[in-house]
Amino acid sequence: RRADSPDPQAGQAVKAADRAHVFHSWSAQGLIDPMAVAGAEGSYFWDYDGNRFLDFSSQLVNTNIGHQHPKVVAAIQEQAGKLCTIAPGFAVDVRSEAARLIAERTPGDLDKIFFTNGGAEAVENALRMARVHTGRPKALSAYRSYHGATAAAINLTGDPRRWASDTGAAGVVHFWAPFLYRSPFHAETEEQECERALRHLEDTIAFEGPQTIAAIILETVPGTAGIMVPPPGYLTGVREICDRYGIVFILDEVMAGFGRTGHWFAADGFDVVPDLLTFAKGVNSGYVPLGGVAISAEIAATFDQRPYPGGLTYSGHPLACASAVATINAMAEERIVENAAEIGETVLGPGLRELAERHPSVGDVRGMGVFWALDLVRDKETREPLVPYNASGEANAPMAAFAAACKRNGLWPFVNMNRTHAVPPCTITPSEAKEGLAALDAALTLADEHAAR
Ligand code: PLP
Repeated sequence: RRADSPDPQAGQAVKAADRAHVFHSWSAQGLIDPMAVAGAEGSYFWDYDGNRFLDFSSQLVNTNIGHQHPKVVAAIQEQAGKLCTIAPGFAVDVRSEAARLIAERTPGDLDKIFFTNGGAEAVENALRMARVHTGRPKALSAYRSYHGATAAAINLTGDPRRWASDTGAAGVVHFWAPFLYRSPFHAETEEQECERALRHLEDTIAFEGPQTIAAIILETVPGTAGIMVPPPGYLTGVREICDRYGIVFILDEVMAGFGRTGHWFAADGFDVVPDLLTFAKGVNSGYVPLGGVAISAEIAATFDQRPYPGGLTYSGHPLACASAVATINAMAEERIVENAAEIGETVLGPGLRELAERHPSVGDVRGMGVFWALDLVRDKETREPLVPYNASGEANAPMAAFAAACKRNGLWPFVNMNRTHAVPPCTITPSEAKEGLAALDAALTLADEHAAR
């Protein structure tokens, strides 16, 4: 359906059908009013009423290649005509090709690819591999993190989304990763933050018992918990600690991977190579569900003569792999990763910093590539957060009012707690990015008013 042929009645029907039977994630079912989407293309999507939105969310930070990329759509259609499904145990051309293209781009010797259907399953399997490989039970993960909503992944998750479903699973221990703006270590410089965070991690390991710890998992650049770019030396410091104690280092790049930070993998920007790397989302921009774990030679060797105890019916699904092959090839041919880096350096980064200077409600700007967050505050001095978006989405809650203003200005934001994330597709053009900044600028004026109250 085209953006310029609105049909509000059809939109109402889609909404009514949704409310009849669809049960939505992370939502109070009786309090939501989901927008009916009529179509999407490139950096935009639109509803049935004639409203078009610049997608500054990339749909849960997912469509790195933008909406409806013709090469990816064609690859899925072509694969559907050849072979729609086949069990994971067979060798299939598109699966092998997807694995090769991913392995060629992952850092270091992460050359074996275990496919999953998404991010949480990738995390579950990475943890299982680490436990079997080390024979140890525990995993350490950061408080400010999100690793997915399945059983082990939600226990590893540190942020409040864990609270309702945390089983207190044996063997998960949380620690503080660096975040200078709201420093858990009361640090004043990045060097202090890095040094204290590494010392805190070592202390945690010492008191848990290094010989009991299978893995440390970190998002290379934590995403939904606030896009906290780690200080120089932190990730290499964690690598060194893991090596010292024989702990498997897992980097979760479900959100940060495949171009988002202006690198194929965020780890490339920090000169660090994990033992396991989880990915999903950007691998094929979510056109068909796909995720996976990239595995080091040493961990892969553990499963040379003994079976890996895990598997999924849809692992390496042909339609998903065909879309990954087309996505990765298009990203390389069209220099999409380079575009993300350039937009971050020349338009988004400078533009967001300029907004922070002018708007009293912007306390901090963080990010790289097309992966940015604005920390909205009531007071720049005390850094008291602007009242977060709440579950009932009350119109007078400042963050809800801010999000509504963005939407009135034609921008679809990614709002979480007291933050708005600027996470458009990696394909975004300079003029689209500027359009997004202008819409944010106008909505921030409203946030300033709330901050002043
Ligand atoms: N890990 C990270 C870093 C994520 O950002 C997410 C989702 O946002 C996940 C894991 C879970 O991925 P999925 O929702 O595909 O299960």
